[in-house]
Amino acid sequence: MRVEVAVVGAGPAGLLAAWEAARRGASVSVYEEHPTIGEPPHCAGLLSIRGLRRLGIEPGEFILNEVRGCRLISPSGITLEAWGERAKAYVIDRPRFDGALAERAEGEGASIETSRRVMRWLHDDGRIAGLSGVDFEVEALVSIDAEGASSLLSTQAGLERPGGLLGGVNVEVEGVDVDADLVELWFSGQLAPGLFAWVIPLDGLRARCGLAASSGQPYERLRLFLSRRFGGEPGHSRPWRGVVVTGGPIPRTYLDGLLVVGDAAGQTKPTTGGGVILGGLCALEAGRVAADALSLGDPSAGFLQRYESTWKSMLGGEFSSMSLARRLMNRLGDRDLDELFKALKEAELEALLTRLVEEGDMDMQRAVIRRALRDRRLLGVAMRVLGRVALSELRSLLNP
Ligand SMILES: Cc1cc2nc3c(=O)[nH]c(=O)nc-3n(C[C@H](O)[C@H](O)[C@H](O)COP(=O)(O)OP(=O)(O)OC[C@H]3O[C@@H](n4cnc5c(N)ncnc54)[C@H](O)[C@@H]3O)c2cc1C
Repeated sequence: MRVEVAVVGAGPAGLLAAWEAARRGASVSVYEEHPTIGEPPHCAGLLSIRGLRRLGIEPGEFILNEVRGCRLISPSGITLEAWGERAKAYVIDRPRFDGALAERAEGEGASIETSRRVMRWLHDDGRIAGLSGVDFEVEALVSIDAEGASSLLSTQAGLERPGGLLGGVNVEVEGVDVDADLVELWFSGQLAPGLFAWVIPLDGLRARCGLAASSGQPYERLRLFLSRRFGGEPGHSRPWRGVVVTGGPIPRTYLDGLLVVGDAAGQTKPTTGGGVILGGLCALEAGRVAADALSLGDPSAGFLQRYESTWKSMLGGEFSSMSLARRLMNRLGDRDLDELFKALKEAELEALLTRLVEEGDMDMQRAVIRRALRDRRLLGVAMRVLGRVALSELRSLLNP
């Protein structure tokens, strides 16, 4: 079989790339290893409202709830709260969301083949010339690798795997008492080293709870967290597991005949591991460049590098600021975190946090980080907790 664009993986990145290439006239096929799009789910499903708009996605039946604030909790239980007047984020049903993206791509003429696991790239004279699985082989002028965090195929092609990989897990709990429009983020290196634990409300009685961690068994950690948060383990759904990417983009995201997008390219926010919006924006760019390569008859690395230069000029600064912030956060032990929360509370900086939530951008966090550090009191607190060693990093966050 022969197509113009072959996409590996029907997650958000693969489906958005397929949609964009198809609506620009390319013949596109997507290959997904699972029988049903979006299943099994692995994502907590918190997406910024502004981010969805940036992707050009209309709110639909996949939206389960809206949130307008967050509660941050330190290892010893010191709490900071920040609320906005308006809703900032949606809680979504990921399988339905992915299903809606699949329908949209199919609406533009892309074909989606499920239960098709891609195992290898086809090579022709040094270029990637398509892909193959157990009982299929597809020649393609441009292949797009959107296989997610496993990145087996991109490493097979000679590209790097994303770094900062954490084991993540989610469950849905019910019969609990939570604020229906507020997300809780629990910070503790004991509990969730490398990220945090979360409680994302579905309504006032049900929530999605999870965490990601750089060591240990995530599910065992989550059970401890549930007992701590709810004073006993509440009834919950079966756990959904997945890999959270926090290491920032891989150094190179294209080869002759190949583009890499989404989690496989490390295009997530290193501060939170969220990847649907930024990975999606990069994927749209990949779809556009793939279609342009076809109309100009040039799928060479020389042409496809436009994809990388565009996503870097659009988001490179965001990724570097968030990576630096992540590295600084990873240095904080539980005592430092408590000290930080205590100092923020004492300096009455909750009002500043509220302003940052109200006006800031959940996805493009560089401006929020800079604005926060421009506040002398907050900078003073950060320097005291992080110590002088972090001075140059804090300076480069302020003036990248
Ligand atoms: C616990 C957890 C919570 C998260 N919470 C959030 C959140 O709240 N908000 C947010 O924005 N992000 C969140 N993320 C991250 C988000 O899930 C990813 O950034 C996003 O799914 C990346 O999209 P993708 O299309 O690149 O990869 P994926 O969604 O992983 O899709 C890849 C697809 O490729 C398929 N595939 C893989 N290999 C092959 C192959 N060889 N052949 C065929 N098909 C293949 C897979 O089956 C899958 O369907 C979370 C992640 C985890 C693990």
